[in-house]
Amino acid sequence: MIRLENFTKTLSPRFALAPLSLDFENGTTSVLIGPSGCGKSTVLRLIAGLIAPDSGRVKFGEETLQPENAQALRLRMGYVIQEGGLFPHLSVEANVALAARFLKRPETEIRKRLDELCELVALSPALFKRFPRELSGGQRQRVALMRALMLDPALLLLDEPLGALDPITRHALQKDLKNIFARLGKTVIMVTHDMGEAAHFAGQLILMRDGRIVQRGTLDDLLKRPADPYVTEFISAQRSPLERLGSAA
Ligand code: ADP
Ligand code: MG
Repeated sequence: MIRLENFTKTLSPRFALAPLSLDFENGTTSVLIGPSGCGKSTVLRLIAGLIAPDSGRVKFGEETLQPENAQALRLRMGYVIQEGGLFPHLSVEANVALAARFLKRPETEIRKRLDELCELVALSPALFKRFPRELSGGQRQRVALMRALMLDPALLLLDEPLGALDPITRHALQKDLKNIFARLGKTVIMVTHDMGEAAHFAGQLILMRDGRIVQRGTLDDLLKRPADPYVTEFISAQRSPLERLGSAA
């Protein structure tokens, strides 16, 4: 279980996270959703220990995240940052194996893990020697996911992992990712600004606005039992343009 207890963070005179308390059960997928600038990425960075809260704490089971244990805890998390974050000057293989090589894991173990991950994310090993710029957007996201999974972390933090993809690739990867999460049974915290995507993945949706949580619940809760008029406003604004054209006709 991961628990955020009353944590706050002021980033600028214009943006602060309100005291935030949330928990994430082991083995479940939760999605943080909300408009651009509402604080989704900031919450992930706080959980990953990349920035420290002004007050409050993050607990991983019984352990509280602190500067002294942040590095050890980070090794138990896979984190895909908003733009994928692959190193452009490293090959696919070097990107994926980076942390394992840094930790001086045996090369035979690394090779075995690379093979497993290729199979898991359906990426051809023939692409191993390529550089990120030589891959399609969808392939790059598969590589970013492989890198996050390399050390078999208990927790996956994914920041808009499908944000930059065309609709067809995005749809295909959504299906694959959901299968992967189900197969691995990991705790997943994902960020998206797309309601359809959130609903596809999550049992638990957490809708944010201006640094605070407007509602957490299932899609059904948000649709049928909105905690605030903003919930309905956000969902309606997300209806597809085609659907809106249809209802205007
Ligand atoms: P989201 O991921 O929901 O789009 P972010 O968490 O990235 O939003 O950012 C929330 C707000 O905080 C935004 O207004 C952003 O401009 C601001 N912000 C993010 N990082 C910093 C920073 N290091 N310093 C000042 N403001 C920041
Ligand atoms: Mg963001």
